[in-house]
Amino acid sequence: MPAKPPEDAGAPKPPPKPCPVCGKPADAATLPFCSKRCRDVDLNRWLSGHYVIPGRPTDPEDAE
Ligand SMILES: [Zn+2]
Repeated sequence: MPAKPPEDAGAPKPPPKPCPVCGKPADAATLPFCSKRCRDVDLNRWLSGHYVIPGRPTDPEDAE
């Protein structure tokens, strides 16, 4: 008889994390986002300065 292991015998894949933009399951091609569109949305947020790192004052000497 053919020795074919069941496909579910390996390590279980972790469930896809939800897209941080819209909450849909992320796509492997555009991780961690669900689509290029959401990736662009997130990028625009960064460029717009919506994301701020708290507790880190702006210090010119700290710039790398
Ligand atoms: Zn999304």
